[in-house]
Amino acid sequence: MFAIELLPARHGDALWIEYGDAEHPHRILIDGGPSSTITRKAIESLIADRIGAESQREHDFELIVVTHIDADHITGLLKLFENRSIVLRPRDVWFNGWDHLPSDLLGAKQGESLSAAIVRNRMPWNADFAGRAVQVEDTGALPSLDLPGGMRITLLSPTRQALAALRPVWKREVEKAGLVPGQAAADERAKQPDVLGEKPLDPKALAAEPFENDPSEANGSSIAFIAEFDGKSLLLTGDARADILSAGLRRHLQERNASRAQLSALKVPHHGSRNNLSLDLLSLLDCERFLFSTNGDIYQHPDRVAVSRVITTHDGAGLEFNYQTQFTQPWESRRVKRKFHYSTRFPADGNQWLRVEL
Ligand SMILES: [Zn+2]
Repeated sequence: MFAIELLPARHGDALWIEYGDAEHPHRILIDGGPSSTITRKAIESLIADRIGAESQREHDFELIVVTHIDADHITGLLKLFENRSIVLRPRDVWFNGWDHLPSDLLGAKQGESLSAAIVRNRMPWNADFAGRAVQVEDTGALPSLDLPGGMRITLLSPTRQALAALRPVWKREVEKAGLVPGQAAADERAKQPDVLGEKPLDPKALAAEPFENDPSEANGSSIAFIAEFDGKSLLLTGDARADILSAGLRRHLQERNASRAQLSALKVPHHGSRNNLSLDLLSLLDCERFLFSTNGDIYQHPDRVAVSRVITTHDGAGLEFNYQTQFTQPWESRRVKRKFHYSTRFPADGNQWLRVEL
């Protein structure tokens, strides 16, 4: 068994992975969404129902990954780690905190708080990397490891350069005393009238729109990796940059002596932003299922350009969304489906989130 659940994390990510024996699966938790009651309840109910009921195993999670410090990924985990009524026993926590960025300055507010919570809870921290940064070196083999239960992990992002680029940003954020960079512009964008849905979808033209790389240092520092189990393979990306993912994949393909990565599913980077899913990246993979985690708030993800790039390059693609929104609903169009041979999937009626069995 190998399954990923896209929890209701609003515009962010909260991903619950299980693998191994269906009765007593191993688990990986990736990000915890933004500060949101519904996300917190979803995670806490899963912990209570699935882990609470289990006879005491040494570790409840083989891995908890904080891909990067943006609020829509880190805040929910911070709340969880600070909740003293829940005791977690992860085998390791992957999180590139201030100590892992080459500098001696104080760290960003939430990063500092999360770091403190990890230490206070006596959780292992980047132990798989001997306490150092979770990062890909310029040369040598990509970092890979085998988790208990037979899950193989291969790290693709971040690079050392991407982590270094985060440093001044983190510093600035602290100096601004609690303001989130990019929020003002995002709020402005959100105020602008929504023009989606007025024009009929034209995926061919949309896919051909020029690609511009995501300039965010925080996103560029995202931890991204391939998780392989039982012949299935899942690429987890956080909000990673397309060029870093492509470079990591090229190294991976070279190591495996393959031309394209065979993926069972891709957690589409950055909630389906057009700036994180390039045609170059898509050309490096054969993938059946594309998973989108977002409710479209603030940034109006997934972007129709990103979805168009998927369906014009991957015949028979399955688009799987954890929310029905004005940004995902247009892809239900029978006309577009007939023309581009893809399918869509949403949470079943009455379900708050999407479970994907690989
Ligand atoms: Zn995000």
